[in-house]
Amino acid sequence: MTTLVPILGDQLSHTLASLRAVTPAEAVVLMMEVADEATYVPHHPQKIALFFSAMRHFADELREQGWTVDYVRLDDPANTGDFADEVARAAQRHSASRIISVAGGEWRVVDSQQTWAERTRLPLTVLDDDRFLCTIEQFAGWAKGRKRMIMEDFYRIMRRQTGLLMDGDQPVGGQWNYDQENRKSVPKGHRFTPPLRFAPDAITTEVMALVAGRFGNHFGSIDGFSWAVTREQALAALADFITHRLAGFGDYQDAMVTDEDVLNHSLLAPALNLGLLSPLEVCQAAEAAFHAGTAPLNAVEGFIRQILGWREYVRGLYWFAGPDYTARNHLAATRPLPALYWGAPTDLKCLSQAVDATRRNAMAHHIQRLMILGNFAMLVGTDPAEVHRWYLAVYADALEWVEAPNVIGMSQFADGGLMATKPYAAGGAYMNRMSNHCKTCRYDVKQRTGPKACPLNSLYWDFLARHEETLKNNQRLWRMYDGWRRFSAEEQVRIREQAARFLATLA
Ligand SMILES: Cc1cc2nc3c(=O)[nH]c(=O)nc-3n(C[C@H](O)[C@H](O)[C@H](O)COP(=O)(O)OP(=O)(O)OC[C@H]3O[C@@H](n4cnc5c(N)ncnc54)[C@H](O)[C@@H]3O)c2cc1C
Ligand code: SF4
Repeated sequence: MTTLVPILGDQLSHTLASLRAVTPAEAVVLMMEVADEATYVPHHPQKIALFFSAMRHFADELREQGWTVDYVRLDDPANTGDFADEVARAAQRHSASRIISVAGGEWRVVDSQQTWAERTRLPLTVLDDDRFLCTIEQFAGWAKGRKRMIMEDFYRIMRRQTGLLMDGDQPVGGQWNYDQENRKSVPKGHRFTPPLRFAPDAITTEVMALVAGRFGNHFGSIDGFSWAVTREQALAALADFITHRLAGFGDYQDAMVTDEDVLNHSLLAPALNLGLLSPLEVCQAAEAAFHAGTAPLNAVEGFIRQILGWREYVRGLYWFAGPDYTARNHLAATRPLPALYWGAPTDLKCLSQAVDATRRNAMAHHIQRLMILGNFAMLVGTDPAEVHRWYLAVYADALEWVEAPNVIGMSQFADGGLMATKPYAAGGAYMNRMSNHCKTCRYDVKQRTGPKACPLNSLYWDFLARHEETLKNNQRLWRMYDGWRRFSAEEQVRIREQAARFLATLA
């Protein structure tokens, strides 16, 4: 009686529900490097290497703990490259009598999982993924019937539920949210402490060579790979962040600085999404730093809100919105993704900085993703499905359940406001306030029209004008439309012609 326990690449947690449900004596753990998963979008080479290296390390750890692990490598000639086929082959190899698995993290994987019982003719148990703080059902119960799903409301429920930063029934410090303290610009000459990174060991080096050989044509550099690939390393990265960088997390959370990739961000999303860290332990570590007096409340609350609030919220929304969510296109945008996203040269400094960080690191921080890359794609009218596929491909932490709501909902407003109360649209003034990129850009951020004018300025107004019918009744855009109407008719024409000339260069 052998139980087959397939463990997927984002299920690398020693406390996984399926591992808790069986004993090493009765089970064979199956881990698979399948080509389908590595190529359904052209993932960044660092992302593929991260998954495969972390999987190989996890398999070794399980073996050390006494588990039997059947590990199918990508370069195994018999590897079919497909989850369902590999599960069927392994079920035969081990004469399995049943399969126990934890629910996949996205619709595509769940669809595959649902075929496993029929393919193998074995009883299949799919367990809930209990590594999240809010269940899919709990979120659905909260969301049902709401016109707008305000994250802040959800977050307060989660604070009360977990007791994080709570003083009885009230938030520690008297406020739920300290965001108004978290929009500082970075003083000139400020030095950020670099994050702890990890030199590739023998396993990672082998995987990097495999990935360079098979996927070297994908956008992104494999050089400089230094992600945590084990739980031990992930815990060290967490401790390093809490000790050296959490205290400044709040202050510069929304800042962007030329040639500064990380600032005070944690870089923990890949480890969290693979399952090397649990969201609760990360939040508790931050809370402990506040109680120990080593990090201020604005930083700790801001950081915990990202994980307890945003991360849980987008996961709930992903499942609540259904499998067609990624096809939504509220603004009917149809432009192909501009080539600059795949590294074609651009003289817009803000964009070249964000794309280059993405290429080198398989990472860009939140404000780069939202206000530079997402904003530009939306302003120029890019098809959100193409934007979605790009984000899914290029970031080390990109899993559809977390990527899609952030892209389709938050950054492209393609879900029509299910997630965001207004489009996150911005012109050069925002960029100039929140970054120092404009100082070294060939464009003049203060100009709207003319050969030196910052393209974002005319694109911003053109976006508002183009979508006036759809957006004009949005209360949060009232001031922007008022600004547009204050321009003379001639200036409006000049602005829109300026935008049209720029858009023609993209085609
Ligand atoms: C357009 C767009 C696409 C994104 N795609 C992804 C993605 O594919 N995968 C992903 O994990 N995050 C995504 N995010 C959210 C966020 O940008 C990343 O989690 C963050 O940049 C990761 O870097 P970090 O670990 O240094 O985060 P930090 O700034 O240190 O934040 C701490 C943690 O909070 C969580 N978090 C913060 N913001 C969000 C958010 N909006 N949604 C969910 N979790 C959040 C992450 O787990 C992150 O590790 C996206 C955001 C935008 C605007
Ligand atoms: S001037 Fe415009 S294009 Fe240049 S960095 Fe600033 S916002 Fe970006």
